[in-house]
Amino acid sequence: MAKQLAELIWFNGKLIPWKEATVHVMSHAIHYGSSVFEGIRAYNTPDQGTCVFRLNEHNQRLFDSAKIYRMTIPFTLDEINQATIDTIAKNNLKSAYIRPIAFYGDIGMGLQVPFGQETEVTIAAFEWGAYLGEEALKNGVNAGISSWNRLAANTMPTGAKAGGNYLSSQLISMEARRHGYGEGIALDRNGYISEGAGENIFVIRNGVISTTPKTAAILPGITRDTVITLAKDLGYEIREENIPREAMYLADEILMCGTAAEVTPVSSVDGITVGKGGRGPITKEIQDMFFGLFNGTTEDKWNWLTPVYK
Ligand code: PMP
Repeated sequence: MAKQLAELIWFNGKLIPWKEATVHVMSHAIHYGSSVFEGIRAYNTPDQGTCVFRLNEHNQRLFDSAKIYRMTIPFTLDEINQATIDTIAKNNLKSAYIRPIAFYGDIGMGLQVPFGQETEVTIAAFEWGAYLGEEALKNGVNAGISSWNRLAANTMPTGAKAGGNYLSSQLISMEARRHGYGEGIALDRNGYISEGAGENIFVIRNGVISTTPKTAAILPGITRDTVITLAKDLGYEIREENIPREAMYLADEILMCGTAAEVTPVSSVDGITVGKGGRGPITKEIQDMFFGLFNGTTEDKWNWLTPVYK
């Protein structure tokens, strides 16, 4: 039984007790990885109380991931957005990590997915702190390049946030931790930087900010898009381009970002100190602006926040 982290889980349209939200061992998703999911955060803001960050974009990506796999989600985007809000509210959460997932449940053993099959959809929400640790947010994480590449183009689509893709992420993060690193970074099949096990990457040198392109086997993150938007607002030039491995060793600053990891500095790569080590000034500026959205010091010009308790 998964550790109980909240009271209720939204399961195919109803909020039910956490302990009752179970699936059968013969579920297709367990055997074949046939699930698509999201990770979303809600923050407790001073002006509007608990707000979901980029709710619609996340759940739109859930539908996009499902479309790639020809999976039908038997709810509308608006219904899933409302269900996300209800799950936070009914669990009385102030801040939350939210995990919507759509998957094939008990549909038989055949590998062939019957198209149009009813898909199960569940949403869990619970309190969850800094993914890479509070210390990493301040002083950076020591990262290592993985011996595992990210998925090759036209094998499994990295643009879908699908359960099966996370076997790649697990190999990358397990290897990194075994080698004593806080997080692993993978290269793509062409040898260029792709992304972290669960984060996109930005490399900064001489005031220019580069990030890996959608063709570098990444999940195009919503936090990545947020960092691009905030950095442009701060007046920085942003390049989406292939980045060679050695650019990490020569960077002034590197940051990783994702819903779980938020905006985390990278202080070393493969034991080589990034810039002066710790958190660089541009990373701090972007990080302050990012967290400012939730502590009230950054104006939400983009309408990224959706209040939970109106
Ligand atoms: N890449 C991978 C592999 C991820 O799992 C995540 C986290 N969802 C990201 C990038 C960052 O995406 P986002 O900012 O949308 O959370």
